[in-house]
Amino acid sequence: MKSLSENCKSLSGKKPIIIAIDGPAASGKSTTARLLAKRLGYLYLDTGAMYRALTWKVLKEGVDMRDKKSLAKLAKEIKIRLQSNDEMGSRVFLNGEEITFSIRSPQVNKYVSLVSMVKEVREEMVRRQREMGRKGGIVAEGRDIGTVVFPKALVKIFLTCSLEERVRRRWKEARERNSFLTKKEIKEELSRRDKLDREREFSPLRKAKDAIVLDNTFLSINETTERVLKIVKNSLQSINL
Ligand code: C5P
Repeated sequence: MKSLSENCKSLSGKKPIIIAIDGPAASGKSTTARLLAKRLGYLYLDTGAMYRALTWKVLKEGVDMRDKKSLAKLAKEIKIRLQSNDEMGSRVFLNGEEITFSIRSPQVNKYVSLVSMVKEVREEMVRRQREMGRKGGIVAEGRDIGTVVFPKALVKIFLTCSLEERVRRRWKEARERNSFLTKKEIKEELSRRDKLDREREFSPLRKAKDAIVLDNTFLSINETTERVLKIVKNSLQSINL
C-alpha cells in the first residue's frame, strides 16, 4: 500500500492536490503548513511573507501608505523569492536581498494590514500565488487562500486558536529572539491586525464555506499537523485516490 506522501505526489496520474490553510495571526498556520508540506513532499507557500516583503519595501522607500497607485506599482515591480527552509520556514528575498528577519519587525507588523487591504496589491499577489500553485502539490497558508486564491482546493482548513494562547505563543517566540515585547503589546498588535484583516473590503479573513475548522488552542504543533494529515487522508479517500 502506498504511503500518504506517495499518494499525494502521484495521485494516479492526476494533478497533485492543493491544501489551503487560513486563519488569524499567530494561529500556527505557518508551522503547520511547513511541516505538512515536508511530510507530503509538497511546496510550502507562506503568502503572508509576500505581503510583508512588499510592506518592508514600502517602508524602506518611504511610500505614503494612502497612495494606492504607488503601492500597486511597487507590488508589480518587486521580485519576491521564497525559499523553503526547515528552521526558518521560508527565507525571503526581495530583488535578490535577503529580508527573512526584517519582515517580522514591529514596523512591518504595524503596517502590513494597511498595505494588504489595497485591491490592486491583492490582485498582483494572488496572480503570483496562483502561478506558484499552477501545478498543484502545494500547501498554501494565509487569509484568503480557500476563499479567493484557490477556491477549488481539495482540502481547506480554517485554523483557530484563542487570543490568549496566540499571545502566549508569540510572547514565547519573541523572548527566544531576545525581543522583550510585553504580552499586552503583543495582544494589542494581534487584535488590531485581525480586526483590519477581518473587516477589509477585499478578500477579508473569512472561513470558506467548505473549510474544516480546527481549533488548536489545546493542541501542540505536532498534534495539529497530525489532525490536518488525517483530514487530507479522508479527503483523498472521499475522491477515491
Ligand atoms: O500570515 P502573516 O501574519 O505573516 O500575514 C501578515 C499579514 O499579511 C496579515 O496580517 C494580512 O494583513 C496579510 N495577509 C493577507 N492575505 C494573505 C496572507 C497575509 O492579507 N493571504
